[in-house]
Amino acid sequence: MCYQDTIAAIATSSKNGSISVIRISGNQALEFVSKIFFHENHEPINLCECKSHSIHYGFICDEEKSIIDEVLVLIMKAPRSYTMEDVVEIQCHGGSFICQNILELLVHQGIRIAEPGEFTKRAFLNGRIDLSQAESVMDVIQSGSKIALHNSMSQLRGQIKKKIETLREMILNDIAFLEAALDDPEHITLGNFSETVKAHTVFLLGEVQHLLDNSQNGRIIKEGIYTAIVGKPNVGKSSFLNCILREERAIVTEIAGTTRDTLEEEMRIGSTLIHLIDTAGIHDTDDKVEKIGVEKARKTIEDADFIICIIDASEALTDEDRIVLEEIKDRQGVILLNKKDLTSQINREEIPYSENKRVLPFSAKTGDGLRELEEYLNQLFLTDSVSYNDEIYITNVRQKQALIETMESLTNLSHSIEDGMPEDFYSIDLMGAYEALGKIIGETLEDDIADKIFKDFCMGK
Ligand code: GDP
Repeated sequence: MCYQDTIAAIATSSKNGSISVIRISGNQALEFVSKIFFHENHEPINLCECKSHSIHYGFICDEEKSIIDEVLVLIMKAPRSYTMEDVVEIQCHGGSFICQNILELLVHQGIRIAEPGEFTKRAFLNGRIDLSQAESVMDVIQSGSKIALHNSMSQLRGQIKKKIETLREMILNDIAFLEAALDDPEHITLGNFSETVKAHTVFLLGEVQHLLDNSQNGRIIKEGIYTAIVGKPNVGKSSFLNCILREERAIVTEIAGTTRDTLEEEMRIGSTLIHLIDTAGIHDTDDKVEKIGVEKARKTIEDADFIICIIDASEALTDEDRIVLEEIKDRQGVILLNKKDLTSQINREEIPYSENKRVLPFSAKTGDGLRELEEYLNQLFLTDSVSYNDEIYITNVRQKQALIETMESLTNLSHSIEDGMPEDFYSIDLMGAYEALGKIIGETLEDDIADKIFKDFCMGK
């Protein structure tokens, strides 16, 4: 596909750095940049005549031939470029003033400022990358942890695409055979086709289910584990938060915009990002303001991946503790018997609803038990060895939705086979699964969805 207009944007972060890069893409990129690019003696440099993938030293000058900046210019001619169009990158001195100045000169020549994500959109529309790769460009830019970066990089290399294409090919073969046999029954017999499709469907259901199962881990890799700290008032929730964060103080960031009743902090255990959310104590109250806090705590529990429930073990178990424990009885979590530095008044066995949870003695005052807790979290969630394997973690909500649609079509298909429906019934669900999988890599993508996705990108990417 060839676009009429040539686009430009600052491709580097505007905040810091001694060098900035302005990226220009389009069929007039070389011509437009040549108009503002000169040798020291003011002789023009014609980039159209230069070899692709070459670097040129010179000066960007304005209409009055005043030097704006001393720069290096890289040229990558179509199709061997990020967008598959002619691309020019101007390496100028850092700082937004110079960049803006150069951009203005380019706009004056007829270049348009790129929309967010437009370079990547062109790379996708010109067929250089598939949609899962395009989305991973965004993830690489934003990745908050080493594992998330690793995962996004593997997507960028097209791991998801490879996997999805293999699955689609299997379906496509079945569709093609079925269509051919239905069209030309004299020469192609269906034979035991339903057995073949059945076996394929079982295989495909397994593969798609596996990708879906992994997507939960994928979200954790990308976003971290949302962990709610719960317990009645005064059991030591805030002390626990301070205790666990003290170790990690250097990389702790307080999230802006949190309210009085829930406090959020981020930390890492190994390479795993953990969001800790300290909730208001859950207890019965008639106080209007407190009620709001308790409701919010309940909502936090509902949304959390993991619960850390704190009990004050220096006192006997109370009804308030029981209310909290009941609230979280079906949730994955750990129960900390806090204040172990004091004489314990609670027996593990008397803690209700604790069958599915690890119970750990703890002291937020001394930090005793912290190592066990961290080890347990690491073991429950991702360790480096799990996350650096070749598994595919689909983290994107849109891609996950497409997997769910694929599952639905495949499930319908397997019902048709089981019910002994005639083979021509298979077509619609095979196509459904094929198209749903295609959405992941952008093969059956409506333009408006593409626009929406690319709008989420940063400028210059
Ligand atoms: P929250 O209301 O659940 O957030 O509880 P706080 O963190 O404010 O703690 C309530 C009281 O218990 C404070 O006086 C803390 O110093 C004390 N406390 C918390 N953890 C421990 C502990 O492990 N040992 C002892 N001895 N006191 C603790």
